[in-house]
Amino acid sequence: MPQCFTLHTHTLGCDGKNTIAEMVARATEIGMTAIGISNHFIVHPRIQESNFYSYSVRGGYNHIYCSSFLEILTRFVPIFDELEQVAAKSSIRVLRGFEVDWFPDPNWQRGFAQAMRILRPDYLIGASHFVEVNGIPNNVHDIAHADRSTQQEMLTQYWNKICAASQSGLFTFMAHLDLPRKVGLGTDETWMETERQVIAQIASHGTPIEINTGLYPEPYPSRRILEHIAAHNIPVLISDDAHNVDQIGRHFDDAERLIGEVGIKNRISLQKLLDFSNKSL
Ligand SMILES: [Zn+2]
Ligand SMILES: [Zn+2]
Repeated sequence: MPQCFTLHTHTLGCDGKNTIAEMVARATEIGMTAIGISNHFIVHPRIQESNFYSYSVRGGYNHIYCSSFLEILTRFVPIFDELEQVAAKSSIRVLRGFEVDWFPDPNWQRGFAQAMRILRPDYLIGASHFVEVNGIPNNVHDIAHADRSTQQEMLTQYWNKICAASQSGLFTFMAHLDLPRKVGLGTDETWMETERQVIAQIASHGTPIEINTGLYPEPYPSRRILEHIAAHNIPVLISDDAHNVDQIGRHFDDAERLIGEVGIKNRISLQKLLDFSNKSL
């Protein structure tokens, strides 16, 4: 296997379908040398006002959206305990991560820093599944349902947020950079200049970017963004965003091929990623 670690995975208790032990067992079986569990870390005081929230209640995964840091700590302390127990018995490295929804609010920054001092993860993935409009977070699915001009505004905000999050210095790497593609948004050529500018800014800060194989035939980010990433020599890793055991390492071979095709040369090692986290956490 070309890249024998995976850091972007979800488990039961979050929106994944398998236990931590099952995920680690499968990663071991297919020849991974390390797996990181990175469940969603989503805290926003008005998260329940999001249109998406009622949908998530129906889907039964609303518990991953927290209104306070106290609430999320209560959730994650036992999950990290379970992780430690699995790690102690595992023959491969098991790492503790989060996929974090970053928000610019100073209260969020303070609460997040405190929570990290308690939870002490090994690494953090920066993500943006929500953009705020009038103080209320909107999921990418909500963007898809908005009228055209609101959509444009939300997408602009999305990219601003990705830029700010990647420059916050908090994140080991950035997840699914062009997430709105999940709902078919932001794909037309009018966004190409924004993408170019965002990549230039991320490059100036040096934050690594994942190639997320969860959206094949074209991963996140799109090929046209990957070409900018190659030109700026931004460090890259492959993520499967596995939500069950069968998705671990999915399309890693395809991603390797694409990396070659677009001319990406800068592959970041697990050790370098963890060294970076040691400094920033
Ligand atoms: Zn995600
Ligand atoms: Zn994820």
